[in-house]
Amino acid sequence: MSREVADVAIIGAGIIGAGVASALSRRGLDVILLDPTPGLGSSLGNAGLVVPSYATPMSTPGNLWEGIRSFGSDAAPVAFARPLGLETIKWLAGFAAACRPARVKRDTELLHGLATRSLDRYVQLRDEGLDLGVREQGWLWLSTGEGNLESLHNSAGRMREAGATCEVVDRAAASELQSGLGERVSSGVWFPNEAFLDPAEATRRWMQDATEHGAQVIREQVIGAERDGNSLTSVRTATRTVSAKQFVLATGATSREVGKMLGVNIPIEPGYGWSVTLDDPEGSVDRALMGMEDHVVISPLPGRVRITGGMRFGGLGGNNPRDSDIKALRDHAQAVVPALAGLKEESRWQGARPMTASGVPIIKRIGPGNLIVAAGHGPLGITLAPTTVDSTVDMIQQGRLGSPVH
Ligand SMILES: Cc1cc2nc3c(=O)[nH]c(=O)nc-3n(C[C@H](O)[C@H](O)[C@H](O)COP(=O)(O)OP(=O)(O)OC[C@H]3O[C@@H](n4cnc5c(N)ncnc54)[C@H](O)[C@@H]3O)c2cc1C
Repeated sequence: MSREVADVAIIGAGIIGAGVASALSRRGLDVILLDPTPGLGSSLGNAGLVVPSYATPMSTPGNLWEGIRSFGSDAAPVAFARPLGLETIKWLAGFAAACRPARVKRDTELLHGLATRSLDRYVQLRDEGLDLGVREQGWLWLSTGEGNLESLHNSAGRMREAGATCEVVDRAAASELQSGLGERVSSGVWFPNEAFLDPAEATRRWMQDATEHGAQVIREQVIGAERDGNSLTSVRTATRTVSAKQFVLATGATSREVGKMLGVNIPIEPGYGWSVTLDDPEGSVDRALMGMEDHVVISPLPGRVRITGGMRFGGLGGNNPRDSDIKALRDHAQAVVPALAGLKEESRWQGARPMTASGVPIIKRIGPGNLIVAAGHGPLGITLAPTTVDSTVDMIQQGRLGSPVH
């Protein structure tokens, strides 16, 4: 069994772990990143939106009511597969508690502020030479409903009050922003300041930047840890032990299980979603879109287009979406942009959003004094990655590093 020593060991190399590794190694710290499959978690096949307007908790009174009303229905926007485990049931109780209006207001302001700063930070990183591929081309929501302009104006007004920049568009204005709209598209809401990126590529670039600045990537799973009093001294894989002064846990939706190995309770529940990516050499989609009735997102990627949706708690998970889920995604997206019907499937994917009950990520020291948890970003991990990286780095720099245990 070999032994490695670092200033900081990061467990998990999704967008969060890769970003933290890059920022710390740029500051001259010795960093080891541990992950059996770097970049292949939730950061792989998601929609890649960087969207302050969407940075609201899922735990709202409306969603709670909708969840109760549709419980058991597989076609509901939020589905619950059986069996639901005890941990999921406890998490749902926390979700219900987080739906109190005052708490929703506070959490919305917090998330919106973090997301707005994150978008600025993506642009700033690019200006400084670290281009993670962010494209500020706006986000267009499209409705296939009839005569709902008044309700769209009401929703847009509420979003503006929460800080979003948006305007209601009729079909003609929406067609200026996206050509070839389906017959049923009647109107929409346009968010000119929002952005998107290719999430797998952003994660890969951040990790490459980390290794170029000296970070070491160990492609192994953490399976255990050693503690000395109130400090974590090392983590263990099948072949080696990694000692460090500080540890960062960035294991996304599996953080509850990994936390148990480190002796800490991290209340994060996987919320499964899925995507299908189509070859699109001609570029059928001009910017990120969302079908408003079903929340299906359509994201243009270089040479491809990705359709993303779904939110299912419980069940078996895994990486393979069901055929029926992919068909439903494609049907919804084709109602918005019919040209998508002719595109060939390149790949399909299922992944888990790391959901906290309140929708606010956990970015703080938990348990051993030298362990920082940076996880639980739910549907907003790409959006919130830069500010999460900044907060984590601040905590590491403010903490006493102490001596690594050899
Ligand atoms: C369908 C869908 C669409 C989404 N769309 C968007 C979007 O448009 N915008 C947005 O902001 N967010 C979106 N999200 C959410 C986003 O994908 C996540 O919040 C984000 O990817 C989480 O990143 P992470 O680094 O925390 O986790 P991950 O990317 O999952 O990384 C965690 C890593 O930890 C590793 N790991 C786990 N256990 C261990 C262990 N024991 N030892 C070592 N390593 C371990 C895993 O291998 C993995 O690589 C979407 C999610 C889904 C499912």
